[in-house]
Amino acid sequence: MQKRKKGSLYTTLLNMTLVPIVVLGIVLTILSYHTCSAALNRQVESELKNLSYVVLNTMESMYPGDYKTTGDTEKVIYKGEHVLNGDYDYFDHIKEDTGIDVSLFYEDTRVLTTVEDEDGVRCVSTVCNPLTVKEVLNGQSAKFYTDIDINGKQYQAFYMPVYNSNEVCVGMLALAKPAKMVNAARWQTILPMILISLSCILIVAMICTSYADKIVHVIHLLQDSMGRVARGDLTEKTDFSVLNRNDEIGDMGRSVTQMQDALHELVEQDSLTHMYNRRKAEQKLQKIQEKALEKEESFTLVIGDIDNFKHINDTYGHGCGDRVLVKTAELLLDYMQTKGIAARWGGEEFLLVFRHYSYTTCRDFVQEIRQKIEDLEVEYEGEKVSVTMTFGMAEGIGSTDLNQLFILADDRLYQGKANGRNQVIG
Ligand code: GH3
Ligand code: MG
Ligand code: MG
Repeated sequence: MQKRKKGSLYTTLLNMTLVPIVVLGIVLTILSYHTCSAALNRQVESELKNLSYVVLNTMESMYPGDYKTTGDTEKVIYKGEHVLNGDYDYFDHIKEDTGIDVSLFYEDTRVLTTVEDEDGVRCVSTVCNPLTVKEVLNGQSAKFYTDIDINGKQYQAFYMPVYNSNEVCVGMLALAKPAKMVNAARWQTILPMILISLSCILIVAMICTSYADKIVHVIHLLQDSMGRVARGDLTEKTDFSVLNRNDEIGDMGRSVTQMQDALHELVEQDSLTHMYNRRKAEQKLQKIQEKALEKEESFTLVIGDIDNFKHINDTYGHGCGDRVLVKTAELLLDYMQTKGIAARWGGEEFLLVFRHYSYTTCRDFVQEIRQKIEDLEVEYEGEKVSVTMTFGMAEGIGSTDLNQLFILADDRLYQGKANGRNQVIG
């Protein structure tokens, strides 16, 4: 796998998409957690508060009358005429049905309770914590605690003052729901939400990653093809997956192809005749020689020069000279299509290279070309201009020095010129 650079497009794309999504996801999850928690706390508070009224009213109807005590050391607590000490039935019943612990305090001391210590002994005669005493008993207002420690265990608890008929506060009633129970309910509500949030983040992250991957992949392909152009490699085209896109990246890919074609033309073609230029012809000839060496074949090199071309220019004008060059080039390209290469070597000189043919066959070919040129009538502004060419030929093999081959072909060409032109020497 390709290593991602810090600050690379891939990293930037992911930072732009993933970071906000993850942050948003975390913020939403925390917010949901707090909203749910608060709602659940309110629900527990209202449940405990309602149950407190029910308990007080039930006790009032079961045992009408005020709370009072007798005795100093072993206190006996009365509700009306009924002795409360040891009467746990009603409170135990509530605990059994709801899981909620119930405690009745006379002043700050537990008189009846369902809360037990580790050994299963009821925590009666224990004193309420000072904060609750201060806020509920002395402050005489009901209070809900979301996290309170009762005998070493955590609870959510509702404490309410208990009054006698003369409106004197004599104690407190406490209903406490174990934190374990509340937390279980809390997670039951929140967990699906967190899981949905996480799944959404994961799905969006996967979509972002895959999209960033795809974008970066095509940009790399584009980068590769631009790199090839920069290195002067104009042959390999931009990948189809880039060119087939309908977006800006596709446009860039198509521009690179256009640039490649334009450079190709500039670098390899002669602008007038659209033949290979001298530079490209030299490369091609090099390759032909390498192939000839490999296959132990020979090849034939021909230099053709238009006869009295200066006279054509002088008589009919430069434009006519250009037209003669274009028409001659067309004829040569057409003829050489399947036999080898044709290039403009410079001025009114052309290079032909034959592969796979014997030297004698090539000589016949060149004679045929010479004849076709002679038969060619170039029309220019109503004038018919006839053209002839002289050719110098030389046979090469894989190990031949190309310079020597050119010198030989050139010599033969000038021999032909000296002999009266319009002929093939080789
Ligand atoms: P020879 O038969 O001995 O080859 O005589 P020539 O007149 O063909 O040769 P010379 O070298 O005396 O003249 C070649 C002329 O070709 C001179 C130059 O101005 C002209 N020429 C070179 N390139 C171009 C071109 O691209 N267009 C035109 N119109 N003329 C060109
Ligand atoms: Mg010449
Ligand atoms: Mg000439």
